Amino acid sequence: REFQEAGLHPVVMENINLAHYARPTPIQCYVIPAVNMGLDVVGVSQTGSGKTAAYLIPIVSKLMGKARRVQGPRPDINDPGSMVRAEPLVVIVVPTRELAMQIFDEARRMCYRSMLRPCVAYGGLPMRITREELGKGCDVLIATPGRLGDLMDKPHILTMSRVKYTVIDEADEMLHSDWEDELRKIMSGGDTNDDADHTFLMFSATFPKDLRSMAKDYMRDDFVRIR
Ligand code: AMP
Repeated sequence: REFQEAGLHPVVMENINLAHYARPTPIQCYVIPAVNMGLDVVGVSQTGSGKTAAYLIPIVSKLMGKARRVQGPRPDINDPGSMVRAEPLVVIVVPTRELAMQIFDEARRMCYRSMLRPCVAYGGLPMRITREELGKGCDVLIATPGRLGDLMDKPHILTMSRVKYTVIDEADEMLHSDWEDELRKIMSGGDTNDDADHTFLMFSATFPKDLRSMAKDYMRDDFVRIR
């Protein structure tokens, strides 16, 4: 299989070439067409399989042209009135700040020249920094579950009402670390106006009972499971 066959946006194709990805990995061969078709996906996979690009590539391709760049002067962090409220279209939840940074790098590569602005937010960073970062405009938010849960309680900083894609990455790791309440809050926090228009993706090395029940509660009945 080839990336050229996937009907991807030319800007994304260019970014794939810039990243020197010659051919899709096996998980990308399954996930890219599934997301293109608008399906919810559970991917049972390990790191190193190329799963990050597997979801970023089709999501960025589908959103191309839909995002609007934040206009006007650069927000002044000492003037709360000038800050822009973050209204991401994509939320990616990960267990650790290291993984968040890694995915942020990949997101920057795939969003290059796309008008989509990726942002990263994780616990341990002063909230002021997160606020400044999100205040510059945020289309793709990569975050750890605790920080994202906190941000959802600050509607002047973040609204989830425009989220079209929710990705839960290394889901089993987050359940082991007792983030289930936050994950459920995040999964129910996206665009609720039109259920059919909100895609859920979940990636995990294992797919235990508590994850199956979360998938059942939030994802559409016909979600595809990829191994
Ligand atoms: P991940 O499993 O998402 O952590 O990705 C593992 C590594 O594979 C990352 O360094 C990616 O940049 C790289 N990668 C992802 N997709 C491809 C591809 N199609 N061809 C070559 N390398 C890739």
